[in-house]
Amino acid sequence: MPRYAMAIDLSLCVGCAACAVACKMENQVPPGVFNLWIREREVGAYPDLTVEFRPEQCLHCENPPCVPVCPTGASYQREDGLVLVDPRRCIACGACIAACPYDARYLHPAGYVEKCTFCAHRLERGQAPACVATCPTFCRTFGDLDDPESPVSRALREAGRVDVLRPELGTRPKLFYLNAPSKRGLTQERQVKEVRHD
Ligand code: SF4
Ligand code: SF4
Repeated sequence: MPRYAMAIDLSLCVGCAACAVACKMENQVPPGVFNLWIREREVGAYPDLTVEFRPEQCLHCENPPCVPVCPTGASYQREDGLVLVDPRRCIACGACIAACPYDARYLHPAGYVEKCTFCAHRLERGQAPACVATCPTFCRTFGDLDDPESPVSRALREAGRVDVLRPELGTRPKLFYLNAPSKRGLTQERQVKEVRHD
């Protein structure tokens, strides 16, 4: 059984949001809500200025706080590590939205909670997630963490630096950020200028 993960090399990401648009189209994400968005932050000042473009989406945590809080079992974790929602069981109570520290979930207008699925439907067809397939800088990799030759395992191995969002929470994200441009690592949550594309 694979253990799916994604990595994004921030030294290559240019914040073009092609991934976000591809996700919108592939998953028919309604206006006003997002599976995937880009945060952009400038750090420092000329001549020591860094810009971080950081795509964000569900991190498919190994220890996902959105799963145990769900009263119906609609929010669940598959054996391959994907964290998903069964819309037929979801009562839209919002407990999982409150529990996710990454703001990755939203209420779909059809009356259930939705979020990034790592394009589970494409994985079944042997295709990479739409965001990975679309990225023009090839900064996104995906695959099985337990396979040392998978693209994501190789990228992690070759990275100069690997970060995850809010590691102190113990959620153990499986969306990894490689080679963060700032020497101090990922920029902090509430200081970033957010750029969402719809
Ligand atoms: S498509 Fe690639 S380069 Fe563009 S924002 Fe997404 S991850 Fe970054
Ligand atoms: S909104 Fe749906 S998936 Fe989320 S906790 Fe409630 S029932 Fe579960």
